[in-house]
Amino acid sequence: MGPTETIETGVTGASPDQPPGAPAGQPAEEPREASRRPFVSLSPSAIGAFKSCPLAFRLSYLDRLPQPPSVPAVRGTLVHAALERLMLAPGPERTPDRARACLAEAAAALADHPEMTGLALSPEESAAMLEEAARLLDGYFTLEDPTRVRPIGLELRMRAQVGAVRLSGVIDRLELDPDGELVVTDYKTGAPPTQQREQQTLAPLHLYATLVEQVIGRRPVRVQLLYLSGPEAIRADTDARAGAATIARAEALWSAILRARARDDFRARPGPLCDWCGYRPHCPAHGGDLAVLLASASPDDSGDPATDDPTGDPVALDPAADGTGGPGIGDSDTGHTGGDLGTGGPGTPTPG
Ligand code: SF4
Repeated sequence: MGPTETIETGVTGASPDQPPGAPAGQPAEEPREASRRPFVSLSPSAIGAFKSCPLAFRLSYLDRLPQPPSVPAVRGTLVHAALERLMLAPGPERTPDRARACLAEAAAALADHPEMTGLALSPEESAAMLEEAARLLDGYFTLEDPTRVRPIGLELRMRAQVGAVRLSGVIDRLELDPDGELVVTDYKTGAPPTQQREQQTLAPLHLYATLVEQVIGRRPVRVQLLYLSGPEAIRADTDARAGAATIARAEALWSAILRARARDDFRARPGPLCDWCGYRPHCPAHGGDLAVLLASASPDDSGDPATDDPTGDPVALDPAADGTGGPGIGDSDTGHTGGDLGTGGPGTPTPG
């Protein structure tokens, strides 16, 4: 690691992968001052959110307005936490029974978290959520043999200067394959993507691989998405060309975000994702009044707005993902504890 790199742990959320954008909608209402707050880095989730709907990106990552807690987001958080605990156990002990025990431990640990209590579930509803989480864990065991996994990092928060962009993100699992090569793994608790969208859903993983290469100095040879509900694994090899293309796309998105921010122009982009968007009741594209939301909601000022992936999977923007992004424990696909690796770098463009 470089001299500015750090390692830390903490609870985060999951981040949903976002499909491509839908038709452009109407301009957002006059942004409030919160959207002018500086932010210093972009996560793959934030990038995906901006591509899907600039207004939702602004509300979640710049205004940092929390979305209501949701069962899918909390369930994703629990599953990620259970898998993290499972991977901390010695290889031979990573059994389905142990996974269920880890789930129970994770549920107990998060019992008093506001996102959990905010659901106000009945005992029956809570049991149903846990049973669905257990079913997802069962799906995990059909995708790989966890006794053979050699994790070297879990819920790893990484930051690095990549080209003109300071990237950050939380990696569910970094491991060594049988040849000693690095592999990036991301768990998903939402529905697997269509075949046409597979490569797109891998894009954040390539960003993570780029982060790893930047921070550790070795490029992972492979990235994989484990969709527990399929269950289905989507894997891809990495190479220098794909890495360069990933950086170029991130730089282009960063520039687009800077331009949008300079103009205070974050347009609503209605599409299928709206059904999973917690901002919908106030969204002008759906007849809502954004001013009401901006006047009444309390922003979450903790952390770095565009850096945090409130649950590995994040802002509920993707029907294929199961989380809600934004501040909270449910970064749609995570809500996990993890380490943090980061490299700083001079000349980081910081809007505002
Ligand atoms: S409801 Fe749809 S258009 Fe409105 S902010 Fe959410 S994702 Fe964007």
